[in-house]
Amino acid sequence: MNLHSELKEILDELRRYFESQKILGLESVVLSYPREEEKPKAPMKQPTRIQDDKEKSVIKIEEQLDIFDQSAKKITLEEIREEIGDCTRCKLHQVRTNIVFGEGNPKARLVFVGEGPGEEEDKQARPFVGRAGQLLTKIITAMGFKRSDVYICNVVKCRPPGNRTPEPDETGTCEQFLFKQLRAINPEVIVCLGSVAAQSVLKTKERLGNLRGKFHSYGRSKVMVTYHPAALLRNPGFKKPLWDDMQIVMKEMGVSKGVGVSKGKEQF
Ligand code: URA
Repeated sequence: MNLHSELKEILDELRRYFESQKILGLESVVLSYPREEEKPKAPMKQPTRIQDDKEKSVIKIEEQLDIFDQSAKKITLEEIREEIGDCTRCKLHQVRTNIVFGEGNPKARLVFVGEGPGEEEDKQARPFVGRAGQLLTKIITAMGFKRSDVYICNVVKCRPPGNRTPEPDETGTCEQFLFKQLRAINPEVIVCLGSVAAQSVLKTKERLGNLRGKFHSYGRSKVMVTYHPAALLRNPGFKKPLWDDMQIVMKEMGVSKGVGVSKGKEQF
């Protein structure tokens, strides 16, 4: 990796980090570097919250690093669902039948993030239960997991009419709940299915083709971006790259039983 792409990766990582802090309530950041002559001789005091009234919402940068600390207080999935309530925060509420919160193991090592519920999901209030969902279940099985081992959710919790792509105001309003879910679960690996999930989790506009095939990070979780199962239904040529991505995930997680598209007969 050359210096330019290494710097870009560090800056992207920092940008994603502060975007997620903003969602968790951070309002501003003070960065101050002591001038040479002001540098303390003794070790610096532990950072503390700025007490000044005007600045009491400012949290020093060292403290923000605790946000992804497992010991810091997190809200549970049940509390997050309660917070969503009978949501009317964006226009999608006008056309939904059900809110599709997400389902699976609250302590999952692996989380799949899709775009938003489709017709069947909207009816059943469960994520990924339509045609694309059945394909996702096969992929999960081929990886050697059960659906109940993993956690499955979406960026937006209500169905966009006609299954259109969620609009920026909709993802912008709803993604805070995805971030809270990810924080509650704290998985080892997050798989972003498609570019809406990738753009939301990684705060990037990079094309899916440039993001897939390698790990990115979200807090302490590794993030793999891959094709959405609905794209595989339209273009079976995406099966092989998706399975390559899942094998990277399985290797990272120490799972070896994958039977995907190897062994001659395809499992999905
Ligand atoms: N597509 C998605 O992105 N999510 C679902 O839950 C179903 C289909």
